[in-house]
Amino acid sequence: MIAENQRLIRVRDTDDELTCIVCPIGCRLHAERLDDGSLKVTGNRCKRGVAYAEEEFRDPRRPVTGTCAVADGEVFRLPVKSSEPVAVDTIPSFLNAMYELELAAPVECGDVVATDVAGSGIDLIATMSIREEE
Ligand code: SF4
Repeated sequence: MIAENQRLIRVRDTDDELTCIVCPIGCRLHAERLDDGSLKVTGNRCKRGVAYAEEEFRDPRRPVTGTCAVADGEVFRLPVKSSEPVAVDTIPSFLNAMYELELAAPVECGDVVATDVAGSGIDLIATMSIREEE
């Protein structure tokens, strides 16, 4: 169980250094909050880096992966991923809901195994097939 108030990822609110992950170049960005509330971004080779930094400050999100319990299957845990990136401040509740799931075999890779996880509006997708135990 993960504490709901546990901060898994640092939320940015002031000047910060970050690495743009939009393309493999990985520009090292410096973002500075100006008095008018706008963000000044330097170090980017293209404007996608600015959009990335703005999103990191405004609404940081991460893809979530993990495993769920599966009954009557050839293995006991099913690898899953979120259908889209999850807001970082809701990741603890998302993970807790994910770990409480008890699925039943068979499961096909790509199946939606849970919808609207923890009220996030985001689903969980199976990333492996599990057959029923013989
Ligand atoms: S700023 Fe542009 S060039 Fe640099 S890593 Fe981001 S997307 Fe790639």
